[in-house]
Amino acid sequence: MIIDIHTHTFPYKIAARAIEHMEEDIVRGQGFEVKCARIPTFQGLSDSTKSAGIDLSVVCPVATNVTQPEKINELSVKANEKMDETKVFNFGAIHPDCENYKEIIDDIASMELKAIKLHPDYQHVFFDDERYIRLIDYAANKGLGIIVHAGEDVGLPDTIHCTPDMVLNLWKHIQPEKLILAHMGGWRLWDEVEEKLAGLPFYMDTAVVLNRRFPVRLGNEQFVRMVRKHGADKILFGTDSPWYDQKQALEDFDNTGLNDDEKKLILGENAKRLFGF
Ligand SMILES: [Zn+2]
Repeated sequence: MIIDIHTHTFPYKIAARAIEHMEEDIVRGQGFEVKCARIPTFQGLSDSTKSAGIDLSVVCPVATNVTQPEKINELSVKANEKMDETKVFNFGAIHPDCENYKEIIDDIASMELKAIKLHPDYQHVFFDDERYIRLIDYAANKGLGIIVHAGEDVGLPDTIHCTPDMVLNLWKHIQPEKLILAHMGGWRLWDEVEEKLAGLPFYMDTAVVLNRRFPVRLGNEQFVRMVRKHGADKILFGTDSPWYDQKQALEDFDNTGLNDDEKKLILGENAKRLFGF
């Protein structure tokens, strides 16, 4: 079973404009061009998933203000009803400034959205801020997973809102059981992740880290070393599609030098065990 734990979709009406802005942000932030690798809508993800031979793509919706979560989550529940046909599942959205965060998390749990996605750069809150700590603690107690963007954001590189030190600081207060740090623990902070975080009891996803279109990607040698130091049972395959072609991502992952047992865990077994897909 192959599960892509980290993908994005954009509403049909705003998709083209949103992608255009994000592509410009990447050029401004990184000094090189990375183009969107598929049609950015839900349908585009569903088609890409099927043609890449992936069994399930999981969408990580980012709420950029307090008014969005309820609307996003309602649409996600409806879409999830058709997951057998679409091969797409949506996690829950929430913003750290939501005063009614307990109510939203209760709904996310009862609607079986399985996890929440947090993006500290787009939500303008540091990961070890009290607002994140309280909502992560509450969500974890409801059995939900927490997937967080970690490290630099390619479009907003000036201030990093989730560093390994912030993860360690948060960990002093709470130890959520299903915490997933995206981008192998922190985009472009891999030396620090390897030193400070590898081996600790949380999860990491592989989203976009092996994409050759990014000159700053994680090299195969360090990737394999990190997987083995951290434990292949705590790494989840992800692409960050549309920012990485899913078929290409599978091929690149296959060529990293991991053995078959490690690949099986990372490609799907870990996500299946963690979320009951
Ligand atoms: Zn992402």
